[in-house]
This record gives sequence, structure tokens and C-alpha cells, in this order.
Amino acid sequence: MDAREQLRRYLEQRRELGETELALDGLTVDDALRILGAKASAPSATSTPAQAAPTRRAPETSDAPTVTDWRDALRQAGASPDTMAAKKPSALEPNQGARATTAATSPAPRAPAPSQMPAPSLADVPSGLSVGTPAGELFGGEMGTLRTLEEIAAHVASCTRCPLYSTATNPVPGEGNSSAGLMCVGEAPGATEDETGRPFVGAAGQLLTKILAAIELRREDVYICNVLKHRPPGNRNPRPEEVTACSPYLIRQIELIRPKVILALGTFAAQTLLDTKLSIGKLRNQIHRYYGVPLIVTYHPAALLRNPSWKRPAWEDVKLARRILDNSPPTIAGA
Ligand code: URA
Repeated sequence: MDAREQLRRYLEQRRELGETELALDGLTVDDALRILGAKASAPSATSTPAQAAPTRRAPETSDAPTVTDWRDALRQAGASPDTMAAKKPSALEPNQGARATTAATSPAPRAPAPSQMPAPSLADVPSGLSVGTPAGELFGGEMGTLRTLEEIAAHVASCTRCPLYSTATNPVPGEGNSSAGLMCVGEAPGATEDETGRPFVGAAGQLLTKILAAIELRREDVYICNVLKHRPPGNRNPRPEEVTACSPYLIRQIELIRPKVILALGTFAAQTLLDTKLSIGKLRNQIHRYYGVPLIVTYHPAALLRNPSWKRPAWEDVKLARRILDNSPPTIAGA
């Protein structure tokens, strides 16, 4: 696909997701689309990318030189080289081929390793939604008696709070570091997770492991779990009553682990945890609170496998989560 077309599609997708501010360093989505000759007017809230795209697409000119890289396309269209450097995700780079081409023509720097990142201020990241009261004993009764993650897992294993236990092969309570700084929360176990009893071990899980490595975390450093602890049959969407039945386990896990930051993976986890119908595009780039814990929203790894152009914004999200982690006060044992 022609690089201009590739870039235009990417930008349109960003705009459909509600993002207006940064597309390419100093350029806004609309600026970049304007350079490409597309109309800058915002799409209607109800239009889908497929509906909206044709009206915004710039006509190809027959004398336009063929370019293979979108950065070159923008440069040819008049973007300043200054705005073209930087912002090069590493492990989450959406298009490795394009990067290789660019390297020959424009030596844009690679993203620094997380450890070399300048200590950033988080003050300018907007606050988002807040759900639940800050930490404390949330549960009396049954949940309050569960004092460790192992006890939660044992309870999940014999749980009959919703019918999913009867169709699942194994419970998938979660796994990882019981004093993790970062907690990843997905939707529900898939087929591989159901077979193994472990969260995020299929194809999406392998990508999650790489995403964590990109911010210098190993799987065993973090805690990984899902909103639902049993697989919905055939991977159907979780039902509200299942979420209601299962959520106390997740809240108790958060209460015991007390992570510094929660990474909500995908629309379902984000909307469920934040009790909202807002899209991921609207929920990203903010620091929400879940029972007092900062919560960052990003795309589900399975969605990234289907749509690699989301890897770039996902990289920004995980870097934000990492910054929160790095800027959190150390935990005092026993506190
Ligand atoms: N998708 C999820 O949301 N969770 C898993 O554990 C695996 C895939």
C-alpha cells in the first residue's frame, strides 16, 4: 500500500478513536491530515471508519512521486524534519519494515530504553475517572476472610457464584508477584488459559510478555489476572451478572497486592473497571483511579495482533504506566 494511503488510514483511525493531539511529535492529527490534503473537519460521532474514510481521503495526484515510507510522504508534503524525528517505539513499533526503510533515508533516533528515559512530570497527564474508595478493608464477610492470593485462588477454584464454573475446564485466578507494582487486568480466560489455568499464555499473552519486556518488566515481576476467573464458553462476551459475581475477587486481589498502577487491557476490562461506556480512545492518556490505585487504559494485546497500528499508542500507554511506577514512593514492608 502506498505510504500516503497507509499514513492517512492510520491518522483517520486515531481520529476515529477520539485522539486529536499528538500524531507525529509536533503535528496534530488534523495538521497531518491537512498536509496530506484531507479535510480537517471532525468526523461525526456516529460514523464508522469505513463510512467516514472516503469523504476525508485526498485524491491521489498522478504526478505525485511514489514514496514507500510515510515519513518521507509527509516530508515531501512539507512537514519540517524537526517534527519527524523521535517517537520511535521499540518493541511495539507497528511497522518494522517501514522503520528499516526510514533508517536509510532519515536517521530518526530509536526510543531510549526505559531506564534512560528522562524523569518525566506526570502532572500534565489529565486525571480521569475514579471508581471506588481508596484502599482499606473493602470486604467484610466472606471476601474479607481471604488473606492471601492463594486463598483467593482456592476460593475461585470452588466458586459457584455464577454458572461459568460448570463450563470451564480450569479456574484462572491470576498469577505473578504478590507485591507487584504493576497489575495487568484483562477480560476473561481464553481457550489456552482455560486449558492451563494460567492467565495470558496464548498468543495475546505472548505479546503481553513482550510488551512488559519493553518497559523492562518480566512476567514474574507483575501480577496478571482477568476480570472473570472462568472462561465464558466459546469466548463469548462476559455477562453483567458474571462480572458482578466475579468482581469481588479482583477487588480483593487489588486490595492484597496494593499495586502502584493497574494496566487495564482492552475495552472490556477498561469499561468494566471504570464503570463507563467510553471508548478506549477516550479513556487513554489519562490517569484514572480504581479504589485509589492509578489505572491506565490500553488496547488488549489480542487487538494489537489484529491491528498493529495500535501498537504505537499502546507503547505510549505502557510507558505512562512505567512512569507512574517509577514515580511512586517505595512500599514499606508491612505498611
Ligand atoms: N485474553 C484475556 O483477556 N485474558 C486472558 O487471560 C487471555 C486472553
